[in-house]
Amino acid sequence: MENIIHTNYQKIKSEIKTACTNSNRDPNNVKLIAVCKRQPIRKIKQSIQAGIKIYGENRIQDAVNRWSKIKTENYQLSFIGPLQTNKSEEAVKLFNMVQSLDREKLAKSLSKAQQKLKKNIEYMVQVNTGNEVQKSGIKPNEVDNFIKTCKDNYGLNIKGVMCIPPIDENPALHFAFLKKIYQRNKLDYLSMGMSSDFKTAIEFGATHIRIGSSLFGERLEKEEA
Ligand SMILES: *Cc1c(COP(=O)(O)O)cnc(C)c1O
Repeated sequence: MENIIHTNYQKIKSEIKTACTNSNRDPNNVKLIAVCKRQPIRKIKQSIQAGIKIYGENRIQDAVNRWSKIKTENYQLSFIGPLQTNKSEEAVKLFNMVQSLDREKLAKSLSKAQQKLKKNIEYMVQVNTGNEVQKSGIKPNEVDNFIKTCKDNYGLNIKGVMCIPPIDENPALHFAFLKKIYQRNKLDYLSMGMSSDFKTAIEFGATHIRIGSSLFGERLEKEEA
C-alpha cells in the first residue's frame, strides 16, 4: 500500500529546503512539528514509518488516548493548544514541550507540576500578536515581563515564542513582529508557520513550523473513539 504521508512529507521537506535556500538558511535549523490532532491512528503510524518523530497535539486527553495506543517510544510531543491549569501535571508527564504558555497562573501551576514529578520540560510563550479578544496568548506589550517572570519566579525553561496570526491578515507582518520579540529576549526557538504559510515563516526565521493538514490531509470532525 502506498504511504501517502511519506509522499506528502517528501514534498514538504523539499519545500522547506527551497524556502531555506531562498533565505540563506540551513534546513537543519527548521524543525517540522507534525500536528496530528483529529487524525486517525492509521495515518500517524504511516507518518512514523515515514520517519517523523516530532508531533503536536492541542488537547491533553486526546493526546493521552492516542499515544497510549501507538506503540512506539521514539517520538517527541509538543503541546500547542489552550492549556487549563488543572491539566498541568498531565502536560508535564506526557509532553517534551508546551508552546502555549500564556499566563502567570499557568506558569505557577506548571512549575508546581514539574517539582512534583521531578521532570523539567521546555516551554514557548504564546504571543497574541494580533491582539485578538478570542485568541489565547499573552498581549505583546506584556511578553518581555512575562518571560522574565516565568524564568526568575517559576524556574521554567523558556526556549522561545509562538504565534498563530489572525486568519484574515498578512501573516508576514506577524512573523516579523514575533521575530523581534524572539531576538530582543535572546531566545532559541521561534515557532510560526502552518500548512498555508510555513514558507513565509521560514523566510522570517522560524525554527519550528507546525504542519497538520498538508501532511495528514483533512482532519476528522471528531476524534476516533
Ligand atoms: C491545528 C494547528 C496547526 C496546524 O494547522 P494546519 O493548517 O493544518 O497545518 C498549527 N498550529 C496550531 C497551534 C494548531 O492548532
